[in-house]
Amino acid sequence: MAQRSKPLRRCIGCAERREKASMIRIVRTPEGELEIDTRGKVPGRGCYVCVQPSCVARGLSGGKLARALRMDELSEESRDNLKKSLNDLIDDKAGEVRR
Ligand SMILES: [Zn+2]
Repeated sequence: MAQRSKPLRRCIGCAERREKASMIRIVRTPEGELEIDTRGKVPGRGCYVCVQPSCVARGLSGGKLARALRMDELSEESRDNLKKSLNDLIDDKAGEVRR
């Protein structure tokens, strides 16, 4: 019996491939803004990270995110903002699981 394969994406933090649906998508919009896309609907170039603070920290360190999104190096400020938003989102998701 053939197994239906689910779409997989590689995490920019740990480089593991996981189900796209279980990951957080980070998008560079056509306007050059960074957005966190929780529904997979935001247009633009995206990359994926696991719902793990360690993956967020690793993914945002160095030039990984900028490379994945084909953009110039991120400013310290946008990196900090993005990290904070991602960690807030992870806290929310963790809360959902516990509820
Ligand atoms: Zn990961």
